[in-house]
Amino acid sequence: MIDFTPNEEQKALQDLARKFSQKEIAPVALAYDKEPVFPEEIIKKAHAAGLLNLTCPKEYGGQGFGLVTSSLITEEMNVACVAISGMLGINSLACGPILIGGTEEQKRRFLLPLNQAGKTASFGLTEREAGSDAGGLKTRAKLEGDHYVLNGQKCFITNASYAALYTIFATIDPSQGTKGICGFIVPRESSGLSIGKVEDKMGQRALNVAEVNLENVIVPRENLLGKEGKGFKIAMETLDEGRVNIATCGVGLARAAFEAARDYAKKRVQFGKPIGTFQALNFMLADMAAAVDSARLLTWLAGSMADQGKRFSREAAQAKFYATDVAMRVTTDAVQIYGGYGYTKEYAVEKYMRDAKLMQIYEGTNQVNRIVAGGALMRG
Ligand SMILES: Cc1cc2nc3c(=O)[nH]c(=O)nc-3n(C[C@H](O)[C@H](O)[C@H](O)COP(=O)(O)OP(=O)(O)OC[C@H]3O[C@@H](n4cnc5c(N)ncnc54)[C@H](O)[C@@H]3O)c2cc1C
Repeated sequence: MIDFTPNEEQKALQDLARKFSQKEIAPVALAYDKEPVFPEEIIKKAHAAGLLNLTCPKEYGGQGFGLVTSSLITEEMNVACVAISGMLGINSLACGPILIGGTEEQKRRFLLPLNQAGKTASFGLTEREAGSDAGGLKTRAKLEGDHYVLNGQKCFITNASYAALYTIFATIDPSQGTKGICGFIVPRESSGLSIGKVEDKMGQRALNVAEVNLENVIVPRENLLGKEGKGFKIAMETLDEGRVNIATCGVGLARAAFEAARDYAKKRVQFGKPIGTFQALNFMLADMAAAVDSARLLTWLAGSMADQGKRFSREAAQAKFYATDVAMRVTTDAVQIYGGYGYTKEYAVEKYMRDAKLMQIYEGTNQVNRIVAGGALMRG
């Protein structure tokens, strides 16, 4: 039997996340969209409520949940605001490389204090000339005695301005392609590390995204993740889990837009009838609900395969592109159902539509995720 019903513990966690996000995030979502600031107080409260570092094992200061349970919680948070929730969830991406490629000593030394203090980190892979083609990155790492010297620049790094540590990917030899890439743990206070331009974005405006400059940054040899040349594999495995997370964010955002549109369509009267009774809009709402539910099931499938220790790259990629395409379509339809009012900043659906666009771009564009899923199909 396949049961899609959360168990009692999962229901309690969903409830906790729903109440937390409706009390602490939803009321300030529009204000943070207008004037983005670091959501420090919200992060502190989420940390105290046990809603940070959901998939990090307990021995390293996390909650130790599997991806399906994490998804149930994350959906509720993202219904309230994807950008603020993104700042709360960033550690799952940023610390993934340490969990995947780090030693026991590195996990205890870096993750435990970070998570116990409720601090946040950043994941630094992308560069100006290496976006979709991340394997072509140019940031150099040179071994000099007992340390590496890092030089280069990362761009579009989420939470860069506020991170306590960074997982940074650099190459020891560009001629080796992806086999030259290494992952490093780089603490914030490392000399030569500075923050560059902070991006002014269309949507998800509460999400801090900035450049990270690395100028002769000294990184002790013991901060190398795994062996030399294993960095690209570590980054890709981190993104597998990250994509299930982004798919969940897409489900949460699409649900928020659908629920807003449904409620509006019940109340708004034209030609003497609620607009939701006109078949054109009624079918649109039916399609929106079906899309949200199917995106959720695809996301749970990927999470459940990961939780069972099975390979899940294809399922993670298809959940990511499908759920975030659903988020784009459903938020666009929600604006349509609101008519002229949907195009104004008076209602949240305008923000939902701007927020959705980014989901089709980060953690691998949806074209790149189709390449990942399609490639896996051809390999059989
Ligand atoms: C707000 C935001 C937050 C981000 N956060 C992070 C972060 O925390 N850490 C991090 O490392 N990165 C982060 N990124 C970077 C993000 O992952 C990249 O923007 C993304 O991978 C795309 O790279 P690019 O922007 O250089 O686009 P490009 O790679 O230049 O792509 C441009 C277009 O070409 C298409 N394209 C490229 N190659 C192919 C191909 N082979 N086949 C078909 N189409 C193709 C793409 O799909 C896209 O439509 C973030 C980006 C943004 C905007």
